[in-house]
Amino acid sequence: MIRSFRGGVHPDYMKAPQIPVNVVAPPPQVIIPMIQHIGAPAKPIVKVGDYVTMGQKIGDNEVPMFSPVHASVSGKVVAVEQRPHPLGEMVMSVVIENDFQDTPCTDLQPLNEFELKDPDAILQRIRDAGIVGMGGAMFPTGFKIVGGYGKVDKLVINGAECEPYLNGDHLTMLTFPEQLLKGIELLRIASRLDKAYYGIEVNKQDAIDVLMSHDPAKYGIEIVREKVKYPQGAEKMQIKAVTGREVKPGALPSGVGCNVCSTRTAYAVYQACYEGKPCIERIVTVSGSAMNQTANALTRVGTPLGYLAEQCGGFAKTPRKIVLGGPMMGICATSLEAPTIKGTAGVLFFTEEEDKNVDDPTCIRCGKCISVCPMHLEPVFMYMYYQKRDFEKMAQYHITDCFECGSCSYNCPARMPLTHAFKTAKIMFQERAAAEKAKLAAKEAAK
Ligand code: SF4
Ligand code: SF4
Repeated sequence: MIRSFRGGVHPDYMKAPQIPVNVVAPPPQVIIPMIQHIGAPAKPIVKVGDYVTMGQKIGDNEVPMFSPVHASVSGKVVAVEQRPHPLGEMVMSVVIENDFQDTPCTDLQPLNEFELKDPDAILQRIRDAGIVGMGGAMFPTGFKIVGGYGKVDKLVINGAECEPYLNGDHLTMLTFPEQLLKGIELLRIASRLDKAYYGIEVNKQDAIDVLMSHDPAKYGIEIVREKVKYPQGAEKMQIKAVTGREVKPGALPSGVGCNVCSTRTAYAVYQACYEGKPCIERIVTVSGSAMNQTANALTRVGTPLGYLAEQCGGFAKTPRKIVLGGPMMGICATSLEAPTIKGTAGVLFFTEEEDKNVDDPTCIRCGKCISVCPMHLEPVFMYMYYQKRDFEKMAQYHITDCFECGSCSYNCPARMPLTHAFKTAKIMFQERAAAEKAKLAAKEAAK
């Protein structure tokens, strides 16, 4: 049986899984931001002039919701300062001048055969290796697993990779099937569960065949075949497709007994446990009409985006927009100097060819946005009340339940900037809530 969810769209997938992984030469300098996860930022634990080895911990913190940061090359620390972050802000970063020796750090050794079966040892390794949600969410994986204890009975691995252009997960399935299954097994053991479910869209039948040939049941894994539809890879849609459970708006997956981890996260867990390797590199899909060619690049964390583009064939045209992740849910980067981070699945360099915005769009009331919303929302009305800044009505139409998948904008023949409006509206709601809280606190203090 092929599983799916209601709504969604079928964008032009523009994928190139036949392009093999090429290893990008590490840059002369890596810029490693101290924010590469959801939660408290890391604090630099090295200073200018220090020599660091590849894989050495360089950012740490004592708080629970946090993930350490490691050097992706060996060399000398030449700056500890604010640098452009790929997501837009200036962020404290450690800059390392690469000595091109890749002198390894020996702090993390492969786990032994007993530890590889021990939930606590695996969990500790996941934390020590700085593993976060590498599908782009960047939620600390150890924290997610512990948060699920006593609540979660289903571990779902996300193999949909439904965003156009991106195919690093597909390539990982084809290139490292056994390692990937072992990584999922480790996540399952750390979660203290007997079984994990691997949801994969059927347009990756070659990968499903390869994985099946390695007997996933031996690792406590069931492969679930899913319909090809965007946003199948969204956490809530994965849960619906695999378990039939529905995550209510505003609720967490653990509320319906599920945890979802990405394919790349599972592979990183394999590397951390079997190879003693922290999270310092990943496959990044580099594409878009500004590029001379598409590439799947094994890239060190901290590689500047401009350098990455150069190493992957260079620009054919001047990019107008840099998108991190996929074109539907990705985030725009503002600087070619900003580096890749653990959650960078793709870097898309777009020109006007991909920019579908029109001046002064007008809604024709066709309802096509409603028919594709996987959250069963009514984007046309949400947009109408957003334009009027009618917060009461926006709330009534559940605007804050939108998870910005972009399906409505994609399906809108009038090219209304729906998703952008909902993103802005959600920020406005957050600001109003914060202002309300501050007002109440001031009132309390004045009593
Ligand atoms: S309203 Fe939000 S959740 Fe629904 S289709 Fe549009 S972007 Fe996706
Ligand atoms: S799809 Fe676009 S044009 Fe059609 S009702 Fe929705 S917003 Fe209006």
